[in-house]
Amino acid sequence: MLHRVRISPGFSVSQAVIMICYFATLIYAGCYKSSPFSDPVRAGWVAVSQLPIVIALATKNNIIGTLMGFTYEKLNYLHRFIGQLIVIAANIHSLGYFYKWSIGGTFQASISTPHIIWGLVGLVALDCIFFFSLSFWRNRYHNIMLPVHIIGLVIAIPAIWMHKPSTMRWMCACIGIYGFDHVCRFIKTRISTATIRPLPEMNSTRVEVPYINGGWRAGQHVRLRVLTFGLGWFGWTEAHPFTIASVADGEEGIILLVKKSGRWTGRLYDMAKSSGFTEAGQGRRVKVMVEGPYGGPCHSVFASYSAAVFIVGGSGITFALSAIQDLIREDLAGRSRVKSITLIWSIQDPSALHPLLPRLMSMIQESVYTPIHISVHYTRVSANGTKPRPPVAHPQLMLSSGRPQILKSLQAALARAVSLVEDARDERRVSGMLVGVCGPVGLGDDVSKAVATVDPSRRDQVGGIEIHEEVFGL
Ligand SMILES: Cc1cc2nc3c(=O)[nH]c(=O)nc-3n(C[C@H](O)[C@H](O)[C@H](O)COP(=O)(O)OP(=O)(O)OC[C@H]3O[C@@H](n4cnc5c(N)ncnc54)[C@H](O)[C@@H]3O)c2cc1C
Repeated sequence: MLHRVRISPGFSVSQAVIMICYFATLIYAGCYKSSPFSDPVRAGWVAVSQLPIVIALATKNNIIGTLMGFTYEKLNYLHRFIGQLIVIAANIHSLGYFYKWSIGGTFQASISTPHIIWGLVGLVALDCIFFFSLSFWRNRYHNIMLPVHIIGLVIAIPAIWMHKPSTMRWMCACIGIYGFDHVCRFIKTRISTATIRPLPEMNSTRVEVPYINGGWRAGQHVRLRVLTFGLGWFGWTEAHPFTIASVADGEEGIILLVKKSGRWTGRLYDMAKSSGFTEAGQGRRVKVMVEGPYGGPCHSVFASYSAAVFIVGGSGITFALSAIQDLIREDLAGRSRVKSITLIWSIQDPSALHPLLPRLMSMIQESVYTPIHISVHYTRVSANGTKPRPPVAHPQLMLSSGRPQILKSLQAALARAVSLVEDARDERRVSGMLVGVCGPVGLGDDVSKAVATVDPSRRDQVGGIEIHEEVFGL
């Protein structure tokens, strides 16, 4: 459990250990029988050697991730870290030469030679990529950060090649990895017609793509492009990731719930709101490009656990909806070991429950063998101070004010799971409890902390607790 302890929001001890080991390896490579002060070429080679790795870690069809059993979003921290090390190494390499030439009085002559000019072009491109990937740009101007990355790379790779032709092998590897990813993306892309509908209570847009109804696992996401000028002149060029809220091979096809959180999602919502009516209520048909699926549980099989708890915040409900519906289906087909399902959903306004109420109720009713307990927590108090009641009175659906008490909820779910498993009187059936988390980074941190404080003997009774975390951010 120590590896899950958070050092800072969304950043765990295991990630820190991996980064320290990686850093130590590169320091060793850079300093073994060499000094960055007297031998600046070594730092240049260290930077070049890492370029294929940093590109591989950024690709959606991630070879490293596939081998390690991680999805691309989970490796993004490593992509950023190695990228920073490359920029540091490239700058040490350049500064080392600037210093050498200045001391030797050859600065003017050296800096104007063609292969050095190419080197400078590569350096500026890498520095620009670094600058525009700082959290300010990444979080606020994703649509600027991404093109700068692509343009920077398109400039840096040939520039480094021209600067030092013997880097050809590494540059070819970069082009190969990038090209392979784009071929896979092309193969995984489908153009279809979707209906977008406003969900004012959830401040979200519901995107229905009925003609694509298979090929994903619960918890996976797709990258959505909406092919219209309604989202601005360049809105159609942007692909945004959204978790699929429906199960594969169902009647609905792909359902996405897109929370209005910035410029693009805001425009999508406005477009849905200003639409006319279709046979199923207010909505508008648009052409979409759906790429994926990506991410999801990887090697983890949710139906193999004894109990499942989903703790989600806001639009993170999409993950829980598809995962729970999938568990119900597996259960009805006799392919699930899950004996108890708990959903804890945190929302701001209690009215956000309304659009999803039919879906939640049908899940409770459909799950005939495995009880589902749903508790919805809202944080915003109504204007007149009255406590809202659950729109439907059902013992398995609770509505409460305030943030959920995660540890208490986990302990209750654990107690339920243990009693159900004990009822089965078969110790071999105890196969652990899954805790699925989806929502803001802080929620993942709170859940990790709560799981770490669960009494170890209680944890053993259910066969251990496994966390699966989906975070809506890179
Ligand atoms: C794996 C994954 C699954 C997600 N699933 C859902 C979901 O089911 N429902 C939902 O409402 N939201 C989901 N999100 C979040 C959603 O993708 C962003 O809210 C959306 O892209 C914001 O775009 P914007 O231009 O409106 O906002 P901006 O103000 O531009 O950005 C808001 C935040 O979203 C990030 N972001 C913006 N564009 C992208 C992009 N192209 N790729 C990745 N991150 C981006 C920014 O870094 C920033 O942190 C998911 C995100 C990820 C990474």
